[in-house]
Amino acid sequence: MNFRMSRRRRIFEGKGKVLFEGPEPGTLVQYFKDDAVAAGSLKRGTVTGKGVLNNRISEYLMSRLNEIGVPTHFMRRLNMREQLIRQLEIIPIEVVMRNVAAGSFAKRLGLTEGTQLPRSIVEFYYKKADLDNPMVSEEHITAFGWAHPHELDEIMALSLRINDYLSGLFLGIGLRLVDFKLEFGRLWDNDELRIVLADEISPDNCRLWDVRTNEKMDRDRFSEDLGRVEEAYQEVARRLGILLEGNVSGASNNITSINGRK
Ligand code: 5GP
Repeated sequence: MNFRMSRRRRIFEGKGKVLFEGPEPGTLVQYFKDDAVAAGSLKRGTVTGKGVLNNRISEYLMSRLNEIGVPTHFMRRLNMREQLIRQLEIIPIEVVMRNVAAGSFAKRLGLTEGTQLPRSIVEFYYKKADLDNPMVSEEHITAFGWAHPHELDEIMALSLRINDYLSGLFLGIGLRLVDFKLEFGRLWDNDELRIVLADEISPDNCRLWDVRTNEKMDRDRFSEDLGRVEEAYQEVARRLGILLEGNVSGASNNITSINGRK
C-alpha cells in the first residue's frame, strides 16, 4: 500500500523528504523525494531515482545500527519510497561527525580538503533554516534548553559509536566515511525517556569517497556539478549489497559502477 496515495495528512516537508501521518499513533511515514538541494540551498534540481536509493540505503544502515543496539526511529520499509518510522520529539540540533577535512570545515579552518583529522571531531549546528543552521557549542545547547546535559552526553556517545561502526562498514566496501550529519529525538519508552537516532543515513548526508581513487560518491557530485549523481548513489547501494538489478532505481537498470567497475 502506498501511504502517500491514501491521502494521509502531511506533517512536514523538507528538502529531501516528506513526513506523513502514520497508520498508528506514534508512527509516521517518511517519503523520500528525488529533489536535490546543494548546501546553502543555492542550487536545486532533481536526481532521478535518488529517493528510491536513499530509502534502501537508509533502511540498510539503520537496520545494522539497530542490530548493534543503537536505537533508531526506523521500523520497516513500506515500499520503494516510503518507510515507517517512530514519531519522535526532534531535538533541534544537527550533529556533524568529521574524520577528514572537507566542505565547510576545510573552508572555515583553511585546511586542504582530504586532510586526515588527528581524531574524529564532533560539531553541533542549530536546526534553524532561516538562520542557515549556525554552528553552536554545548554551552548554547544547554543554556537555551535545546537538550539537557545528560541528553547531550548520550548524543555524543551514540554519535561516536555510529561513526566507529559506519567507518568500518564503509571501509569494508572501499569507501571512506569523510563526514556525516545526524539528528536525534526523544522517545518515551515505559516511563523512560530515550535518545533515538532520527532522519536518514544516505549519500545525501554522508560524504563518501572511494578509498582507491578518492572519487566522490555522494551529494557533492550534485553540488559540485561532477555529473553521474544517480550512478554514484547506485554504486554505494551496489557495494552495500542491496542493489538487485532492476528493482531499486526505476530510472536506470544500468548498474555499471561510476568508476568503471561492475
Ligand atoms: P558541511 O558542514 O561540510 O557542509 O557538511 C558536513 C556533513 O554534514 C556533510 O556530510 C553533509 O552532507 C552533512 N550536512 C550538513 N548539513 C546538512 C543538511 O542541512 N542536510 C543534509 N542532508 N546534510 C547535511
